[in-house]
Amino acid sequence: MGTELTFCRMPLDRASTLRKNQQWLDEKLNANDSRFYFYWRGKYLYLDEKIFVFNREGSIDKLLNVLNTSEFNKIITENALTFLGTDNNVAIFVCDLSLMHDVDLKKWLEKLDLINMKFIDFRNSLSLLNQQQGAILSYAKALIHWQRSANFCGSCGGKTKAMDGGHRMVCTNDSCQKEHFPRTDPVVIMLVEYQPKSGPAVCLLAEHHRIPDKVFSTLAGFVDPGESLQEAVIREVYEEAGVDVASVSFIDSQPWPFPNSLMIGFFAQAQGMDLCLEEEELRSASWFTAQQLLDFNEWGDEGDAPKLPRKESISRLLIDLWCEKQLSVTADVIGK
Ligand SMILES: [Zn+2]
Repeated sequence: MGTELTFCRMPLDRASTLRKNQQWLDEKLNANDSRFYFYWRGKYLYLDEKIFVFNREGSIDKLLNVLNTSEFNKIITENALTFLGTDNNVAIFVCDLSLMHDVDLKKWLEKLDLINMKFIDFRNSLSLLNQQQGAILSYAKALIHWQRSANFCGSCGGKTKAMDGGHRMVCTNDSCQKEHFPRTDPVVIMLVEYQPKSGPAVCLLAEHHRIPDKVFSTLAGFVDPGESLQEAVIREVYEEAGVDVASVSFIDSQPWPFPNSLMIGFFAQAQGMDLCLEEEELRSASWFTAQQLLDFNEWGDEGDAPKLPRKESISRLLIDLWCEKQLSVTADVIGK
């Protein structure tokens, strides 16, 4: 299940034991074959629309000259590095340039003098990445986001220091020394379905204020402390749409690095079709048959016709799976 979902199937060995060994990490940081991605405030560095990876042996694509190789070496020593894992024993790092002022970043890029080298927003560049690259860069983005939020100790306010290649932040206050670990925020996301006494099954989709007009997606919400995932589904559906849910079944999950969530997807069976919308969250919501969804446009299409969520989202996967299931049931009925 879900093996093809965007951001899933991170291919690297996370080497979570080895990365605790500072000597090993130092050797990898200085190894000629280690590879480096470059990140700046939600964007990654691309060359000719391909994600750019640097190693000291020269570019993997053999595009760098001596001058720009030394520029990359310099920038690596001056900025924060996070260890991502290994690929056949080759270490992979991400270099976070986010502290650089945009003017300085522009100057640095000009100095490199590589035509078509630029930083591109991660979310808007998914079409330039394959499944594995998307998963690695999603993981890197979520880690960097967490590090930024953990620069100071949540316990005493002291400055923290990155350890284990950036996977642990330790308070530098000697009387505290509290350790902080990367956090992931669980979000339940559910396709609510209802089977009327007669006629085809319907599913509940909503226009959310936080996404563009006319895009209809599934309901979703953060899990509260002290709440099971099933309880979160039942609560969220009731709070957002006023619908009682009878049963909940897990379908799939997806890391979602905007900024650091884990989307946990369910089908939920509604007990009725009456709606009472939470207007702060939802612009509108309606029940749709699978046949109606077939006529929806795609995210990003022009015009006022209703649209489906982005293809890379688990919301879209839930809708597609549900439609497939309904249409195959219809086909079976017609076949008989
Ligand atoms: Zn502290």
